[in-house]
Amino acid sequence: MLQVAHIVPRTNAEGPGLRAAIWTQGCTIRCPGCCNPELFGRVGGRAYAVADLLDELPAVLDGITVLGGEPLDQPEGTTELAVAAKARGLSVMVYSGYKRADVDARAPGLLAATDVLVDGPFDGSLPERGEPHPRRWIGSANQGLHFLTGRYSLNDFWGPNTVELRMVGGRVVVNGWPK
Ligand code: SF4
Repeated sequence: MLQVAHIVPRTNAEGPGLRAAIWTQGCTIRCPGCCNPELFGRVGGRAYAVADLLDELPAVLDGITVLGGEPLDQPEGTTELAVAAKARGLSVMVYSGYKRADVDARAPGLLAATDVLVDGPFDGSLPERGEPHPRRWIGSANQGLHFLTGRYSLNDFWGPNTVELRMVGGRVVVNGWPK
């Protein structure tokens, strides 16, 4: 099971290609300046069985992006999701405030099913600038970007960031990276 705050089933603004973005509920790291403080508490969202979550996603996707909240505060559910998504041919991108070694220790088997890991806590005093370009979809310069398979490379992370606005139930919902 995975406690999920919300899902955007089709987005081009949360990683390379057409992806489903899945925000997990709850984060114990609580970086100052985090853009999702409403996801800090563990209460909220909806508990999903992994198979049900994947069954709800559109058939034509390049992959899923799991972000938070802190996915590694739910290591079993996040690992189960990544493994199951991979088995369906989807690429897997995971954001974590933990560093790679801690991710591996907390969730054995997760990295074997992950194509791209963004690791480390967000630090608002170190805005991503990058050379020769900022890396897309990366919040701060201290965060690592690990290509764990050959599916993506740094070339996929060049270019301007984007935001998306959509109407959901009469509300405007925004996702993506405005700068
Ligand atoms: S780990 Fe992620 S969700 Fe948690 S506080 Fe840091 S940036 Fe926010």
